[in-house]
Amino acid sequence: MRKKIVAGNWKMNMDYNEGLSLFSEVINMVKDEVTGSQQAVVCSPFIHLHSLTHLAKGYAKVAVGAQNAHQAESGAYTGEISARMINSVGAEYVILGHSERRQYFGEDNALLAKKTDTALANGLKPIFCIGETLDERNAEKHFDVIKSQLAEGVFHLDEAHFSKLVIAYEPVWAIGTGVTASSAQAQEIHAFIRQEIAAKYGQPVADGITILYGGSCNPKNAPELFAQPDIDGGLIGGASLKSRDFVDIVKVFN
Ligand code: PEP
Repeated sequence: MRKKIVAGNWKMNMDYNEGLSLFSEVINMVKDEVTGSQQAVVCSPFIHLHSLTHLAKGYAKVAVGAQNAHQAESGAYTGEISARMINSVGAEYVILGHSERRQYFGEDNALLAKKTDTALANGLKPIFCIGETLDERNAEKHFDVIKSQLAEGVFHLDEAHFSKLVIAYEPVWAIGTGVTASSAQAQEIHAFIRQEIAAKYGQPVADGITILYGGSCNPKNAPELFAQPDIDGGLIGGASLKSRDFVDIVKVFN
Protein backbone atom coordinates (compact mmCIF):
# COMPACT_ATOMS: atom_id res chain seq x y z
CA MET A 1 0.00 0.00 0.00
CA ARG A 2 1.36 3.40 -1.00
CA LYS A 3 1.43 6.14 1.60
CA LYS A 4 -1.51 8.54 1.22
CA ILE A 5 -0.65 12.19 1.82
CA VAL A 6 -2.62 15.41 1.79
CA ALA A 7 -0.20 18.34 1.87
CA GLY A 8 -1.23 21.95 2.38
CA ASN A 9 0.76 24.74 0.76
CA TRP A 10 0.08 27.97 2.62
CA LYS A 11 2.24 29.94 0.15
CA MET A 12 2.93 33.50 1.41
CA ASN A 13 -0.14 33.64 3.63
CA MET A 14 -0.71 33.74 7.39
CA ASP A 15 1.24 35.94 9.80
CA TYR A 16 2.87 34.13 12.72
CA ASN A 17 -0.14 34.09 15.06
CA GLU A 18 -2.65 33.32 12.34
CA GLY A 19 -0.51 30.39 11.25
CA LEU A 20 -0.27 28.97 14.76
CA SER A 21 -4.04 29.21 15.23
CA LEU A 22 -4.74 27.54 11.91
CA PHE A 23 -2.27 24.75 12.62
CA SER A 24 -3.67 24.15 16.12
CA GLU A 25 -7.14 23.77 14.61
CA VAL A 26 -5.79 21.34 12.01
CA ILE A 27 -4.06 19.22 14.67
CA ASN A 28 -7.17 19.06 16.85
CA MET A 29 -9.41 18.10 13.96
CA VAL A 30 -6.97 15.49 12.66
CA LYS A 31 -6.68 14.02 16.17
CA ASP A 32 -10.46 13.77 16.57
CA GLU A 33 -11.54 12.87 13.06
CA VAL A 34 -8.84 11.12 11.03
CA THR A 35 -9.18 7.38 11.32
CA GLY A 36 -7.02 6.12 8.45
CA SER A 37 -3.25 5.86 8.05
CA GLN A 38 -3.00 8.92 5.80
CA GLN A 39 -0.68 11.79 6.70
CA ALA A 40 -1.50 15.50 6.70
CA VAL A 41 1.49 17.68 5.84
CA VAL A 42 1.45 21.44 6.36
CA CYS A 43 3.98 23.41 4.30
CA SER A 44 4.17 26.82 5.93
CA PRO A 45 6.34 29.90 5.44
CA PHE A 46 9.76 29.51 7.12
CA ILE A 47 8.89 31.68 10.11
CA HIS A 48 6.28 29.19 11.35
CA LEU A 49 8.25 25.99 10.95
CA HIS A 50 9.89 25.74 14.36
CA SER A 51 6.68 26.40 16.28
CA LEU A 52 4.63 24.07 14.09
CA THR A 53 7.00 21.14 14.56
CA HIS A 54 6.70 21.65 18.32
CA LEU A 55 2.91 21.70 18.15
CA ALA A 56 2.95 18.56 15.99
CA LYS A 57 5.16 16.54 18.34
CA GLY A 58 3.50 13.26 19.23
CA TYR A 59 1.01 13.40 16.33
CA ALA A 60 2.37 11.09 13.68
CA LYS A 61 -0.51 11.93 11.36
CA VAL A 62 0.60 15.55 11.03
CA ALA A 63 3.96 16.54 9.57
CA VAL A 64 5.48 19.89 8.65
CA GLY A 65 7.29 21.03 5.53
CA ALA A 66 8.89 24.08 3.97
CA GLN A 67 8.02 25.51 0.55
CA ASN A 68 11.54 25.98 -0.79
CA ALA A 69 15.19 25.46 0.12
CA HIS A 70 18.44 26.73 -1.33
CA GLN A 71 20.63 24.46 -3.42
CA ALA A 72 23.87 25.26 -1.56
CA GLU A 73 24.77 23.70 1.77
CA SER A 74 25.52 27.09 3.34
CA GLY A 75 27.33 30.31 2.56
CA ALA A 76 27.03 33.90 1.44
CA TYR A 77 23.47 33.83 0.08
CA THR A 78 21.82 36.71 1.88
CA GLY A 79 18.18 36.10 2.66
CA GLU A 80 18.18 32.41 1.78
CA ILE A 81 17.32 29.35 3.89
CA SER A 82 19.22 26.07 3.67
CA ALA A 83 17.92 22.52 3.77
CA ARG A 84 19.98 21.89 6.89
CA MET A 85 18.29 24.79 8.68
CA ILE A 86 14.87 23.41 7.75
CA ASN A 87 15.82 19.96 9.00
CA SER A 88 17.22 21.44 12.21
CA VAL A 89 13.80 22.76 13.28
CA GLY A 90 12.19 19.36 12.80
CA ALA A 91 10.49 19.82 9.44
CA GLU A 92 10.26 16.63 7.42
CA TYR A 93 9.27 17.76 3.92
CA VAL A 94 10.12 20.51 1.44
CA ILE A 95 8.18 21.48 -1.67
CA LEU A 96 10.53 21.84 -4.65
CA GLY A 97 9.74 22.95 -8.16
CA HIS A 98 6.37 24.51 -7.46
CA SER A 99 5.19 26.24 -10.64
CA GLU A 100 5.25 29.61 -8.85
CA ARG A 101 8.97 29.08 -8.13
CA ARG A 102 9.53 28.02 -11.73
CA GLN A 103 7.54 30.97 -13.11
CA TYR A 104 8.40 33.88 -10.79
CA PHE A 105 11.89 32.89 -9.62
CA GLY A 106 13.21 31.29 -12.80
CA GLU A 107 13.83 27.88 -11.25
CA ASP A 108 14.57 25.39 -14.00
CA ASN A 109 15.03 21.64 -14.02
CA ALA A 110 18.83 21.87 -13.64
CA LEU A 111 18.57 24.07 -10.54
CA LEU A 112 15.81 21.87 -9.12
CA ALA A 113 18.00 18.79 -9.56
CA LYS A 114 20.61 20.48 -7.34
CA LYS A 115 17.99 21.54 -4.80
CA THR A 116 16.70 17.97 -4.67
CA ASP A 117 20.19 16.61 -4.00
CA THR A 118 20.81 19.10 -1.20
CA ALA A 119 17.40 18.53 0.39
CA LEU A 120 17.89 14.75 0.39
CA ALA A 121 21.46 15.06 1.70
CA ASN A 122 20.05 16.99 4.64
CA GLY A 123 17.36 14.49 5.53
CA LEU A 124 14.36 16.24 3.94
CA LYS A 125 11.73 14.53 1.81
CA PRO A 126 11.11 16.62 -1.31
CA ILE A 127 7.58 17.01 -2.64
CA PHE A 128 8.72 17.51 -6.23
CA CYS A 129 6.21 19.40 -8.38
CA ILE A 130 5.78 18.93 -12.11
CA GLY A 131 3.07 20.04 -14.51
CA GLU A 132 2.35 21.68 -17.83
CA THR A 133 1.08 25.16 -18.63
CA LEU A 134 -2.16 25.75 -20.54
CA ASP A 135 -0.22 26.58 -23.72
CA GLU A 136 1.73 23.35 -23.41
CA ARG A 137 -1.46 21.33 -22.94
CA ASN A 138 -3.20 23.07 -25.84
CA ALA A 139 -0.18 22.28 -28.00
CA GLU A 140 -0.45 18.64 -26.81
CA LYS A 141 3.02 18.83 -25.31
CA HIS A 142 1.98 17.86 -21.78
CA PHE A 143 3.46 14.36 -21.86
CA ASP A 144 6.77 15.70 -23.20
CA VAL A 145 6.89 18.41 -20.51
CA ILE A 146 6.27 15.88 -17.73
CA LYS A 147 8.84 13.54 -19.22
CA SER A 148 11.57 16.17 -19.31
CA GLN A 149 10.73 17.59 -15.85
CA LEU A 150 11.23 14.07 -14.45
CA ALA A 151 14.27 13.23 -16.56
CA GLU A 152 16.10 16.51 -15.86
CA GLY A 153 14.86 17.15 -12.32
CA VAL A 154 14.99 13.82 -10.50
CA PHE A 155 16.01 10.88 -12.69
CA HIS A 156 19.70 11.44 -11.89
CA LEU A 157 18.99 10.06 -8.39
CA ASP A 158 19.86 6.52 -7.43
CA GLU A 159 16.98 4.26 -6.45
CA ALA A 160 17.40 4.69 -2.69
CA HIS A 161 17.23 8.47 -2.94
CA PHE A 162 14.51 8.52 -5.56
CA SER A 163 12.31 6.35 -3.35
CA LYS A 164 12.27 9.08 -0.69
CA LEU A 165 10.50 11.53 -3.03
CA VAL A 166 6.86 12.45 -3.22
CA ILE A 167 5.86 13.60 -6.71
CA ALA A 168 3.11 16.20 -7.14
CA TYR A 169 1.43 16.59 -10.53
CA GLU A 170 0.09 20.13 -10.71
CA PRO A 171 -1.20 21.33 -14.08
CA VAL A 172 -0.31 25.03 -13.97
CA TRP A 173 -3.67 25.96 -15.53
CA ALA A 174 -5.45 24.44 -12.52
CA ILE A 175 -3.46 26.15 -9.75
CA GLY A 176 -5.43 28.85 -7.98
CA THR A 177 -7.81 29.16 -10.92
CA GLY A 178 -10.80 27.21 -9.65
CA VAL A 179 -10.43 24.99 -12.73
CA THR A 180 -9.63 21.43 -11.74
CA ALA A 181 -8.28 18.74 -14.04
CA SER A 182 -10.97 16.15 -14.53
CA SER A 183 -10.31 12.93 -12.66
CA ALA A 184 -9.72 11.23 -16.03
CA GLN A 185 -7.17 13.89 -17.11
CA ALA A 186 -5.36 13.65 -13.77
CA GLN A 187 -5.38 9.85 -13.74
CA GLU A 188 -4.01 9.77 -17.29
CA ILE A 189 -0.98 11.85 -16.31
CA HIS A 190 -0.47 10.07 -12.98
CA ALA A 191 -0.43 6.71 -14.78
CA PHE A 192 2.06 8.16 -17.27
CA ILE A 193 4.30 9.42 -14.45
CA ARG A 194 4.23 5.99 -12.80
CA GLN A 195 5.03 4.37 -16.13
CA GLU A 196 8.03 6.67 -16.64
CA ILE A 197 9.25 5.84 -13.13
CA ALA A 198 8.81 2.12 -13.81
CA ALA A 199 10.81 2.40 -17.03
CA LYS A 200 13.65 4.11 -15.16
CA TYR A 201 13.67 2.39 -11.74
CA GLY A 202 11.49 -0.71 -12.19
CA GLN A 203 7.90 -1.51 -11.27
CA PRO A 204 8.36 -2.03 -7.49
CA VAL A 205 9.81 1.50 -7.11
CA ALA A 206 7.03 2.96 -9.29
CA ASP A 207 4.39 1.12 -7.27
CA GLY A 208 5.76 2.52 -4.02
CA ILE A 209 5.95 6.21 -4.95
CA THR A 210 3.26 8.56 -3.67
CA ILE A 211 1.99 10.82 -6.46
CA LEU A 212 -0.18 13.77 -5.43
CA TYR A 213 -2.57 15.80 -7.55
CA GLY A 214 -2.64 19.58 -7.09
CA GLY A 215 -4.77 22.29 -8.67
CA SER A 216 -7.98 23.75 -7.20
CA CYS A 217 -8.58 20.64 -5.13
CA ASN A 218 -11.36 21.06 -2.56
CA PRO A 219 -13.57 18.91 -0.31
CA LYS A 220 -16.10 18.52 -3.14
CA ASN A 221 -13.81 17.29 -5.92
CA ALA A 222 -11.23 15.45 -3.79
CA PRO A 223 -13.23 12.20 -3.36
CA GLU A 224 -13.44 11.58 -7.10
CA LEU A 225 -9.82 12.59 -7.75
CA PHE A 226 -8.46 10.49 -4.87
CA ALA A 227 -10.49 7.47 -6.00
CA GLN A 228 -8.32 7.20 -9.11
CA PRO A 229 -5.88 4.28 -8.92
CA ASP A 230 -2.72 6.35 -9.41
CA ILE A 231 -3.67 9.40 -7.31
CA ASP A 232 -2.34 9.01 -3.77
CA GLY A 233 -3.44 12.33 -2.31
CA GLY A 234 -3.25 16.04 -2.97
CA LEU A 235 -1.21 19.19 -2.76
CA ILE A 236 -3.68 21.80 -1.63
CA GLY A 237 -3.23 25.57 -1.94
CA GLY A 238 -6.26 27.77 -1.26
CA ALA A 239 -8.29 25.16 0.61
CA SER A 240 -5.42 24.53 3.05
CA LEU A 241 -5.97 28.00 4.54
CA LYS A 242 -9.28 26.87 6.05
CA SER A 243 -8.88 24.17 8.67
CA ARG A 244 -12.32 22.67 8.01
CA ASP A 245 -11.77 22.36 4.27
CA PHE A 246 -8.23 21.04 4.61
CA VAL A 247 -9.11 18.38 7.15
CA ASP A 248 -12.18 17.36 5.15
CA ILE A 249 -9.83 16.70 2.23
CA VAL A 250 -7.50 14.72 4.52
CA LYS A 251 -10.52 12.69 5.67
CA VAL A 252 -11.25 11.49 2.14
CA PHE A 253 -8.83 8.64 2.99
CA ASN A 254 -10.65 7.66 6.21
C1 PEP B 1 -0.75 24.81 -5.18
O1 PEP B 1 -0.35 25.95 -5.15
O2 PEP B 1 0.05 23.87 -5.02
C2 PEP B 1 -2.17 24.58 -5.42
C3 PEP B 1 -2.55 23.39 -5.77
O3 PEP B 1 -3.00 25.66 -5.26
P1 PEP B 1 -4.61 25.66 -5.34
O4 PEP B 1 -5.09 24.45 -4.57
O5 PEP B 1 -5.03 26.93 -4.72
O6 PEP B 1 -4.97 25.54 -6.78
